[in-house]
Amino acid sequence: MPAVPLPDPVVARPRPARSDEHLTILYRGPLASCDYDCPYCPFAKRRDSVEQLRADRASLERFTAWVSGAPSVSVLFTPWGEGLVRSWYRRALVELSHLPNVRRVAIQTNLSYRTSWTSDADPAKLALWATYHPGQVPYERFLGKARDLAERGIRYSVGVVGQPEHLADALRLRADLPEHVYLWVNAAEGRSYTDAEAAEWTAIDPLFGYSRDPHPSRGRACRTGESVVSVDGDGTVRRCHFVPDVLGNLYDGTFRAALGPRPCPLDVCDCHIGYVHLEPLGLYDVFAGGILERIPKLA
Ligand code: SF4
Ligand code: SF4
Repeated sequence: MPAVPLPDPVVARPRPARSDEHLTILYRGPLASCDYDCPYCPFAKRRDSVEQLRADRASLERFTAWVSGAPSVSVLFTPWGEGLVRSWYRRALVELSHLPNVRRVAIQTNLSYRTSWTSDADPAKLALWATYHPGQVPYERFLGKARDLAERGIRYSVGVVGQPEHLADALRLRADLPEHVYLWVNAAEGRSYTDAEAAEWTAIDPLFGYSRDPHPSRGRACRTGESVVSVDGDGTVRRCHFVPDVLGNLYDGTFRAALGPRPCPLDVCDCHIGYVHLEPLGLYDVFAGGILERIPKLA
């Protein structure tokens, strides 16, 4: 299957702020521990102390309390480590899924924890962004969890990192997953793919072309900082996880005055949770209805 054609770049143009509209929040608290140890892990993993876990829990509970009184929001939890092995993340997902002002609540996860907790959530709003890490979990165990989620009617995508040694597992997973489940492939960090290699991954994920190379982003319109923000455990609001400039704080409301259209200040954006909001790419159409959990419209 050919690589996905990308549209020509469009430079950002000023237009009215849309800060009164639906707000999408990418939340990343202090949690940084994970039950896996992937050799290619891009995150700053550590062993969380009891105090750090307590602080993470308190931060998350403060955030969910804020969401319960907020206008219309969607939330994606993007922890540095694995959240679902912690009861407070499972509880937050369940609680938020039942709130009328929450349109979607999703989390990035390695799916190591059992899936039965999802039965307490509203399946119309809960979604999982699951990643399969060969070498960390037996294939059949991961596949069983994925199939179980499908039987429970939970929305989810599954992905793998496009390392050469993962290709056989990815092909097998594509063949074994329910047909409606989207299997995405992330380009491995710093790896350059030949056309032949890219074609192999594109046969598994028709949208691999979006991940293959970093997207030039400087000066281009990006929804982050306007209708999408990143929030940390202290409530510090930034436009995205990659631009360090602070817009304000969630809990004192100071971020709201800073919301508005602004072009990307960085040269490139190479992570899906960022470039999905880069307007010239048109990915809100490709992933309509599943932007946070990475489920394309066609899936
Ligand atoms: S599951 Fe994710 S956070 Fe955990 S070690 Fe692997 S890549 Fe890192
Ligand atoms: S394009 Fe990426 S790096 Fe730039 S502002 Fe948007 S999300 Fe952030």
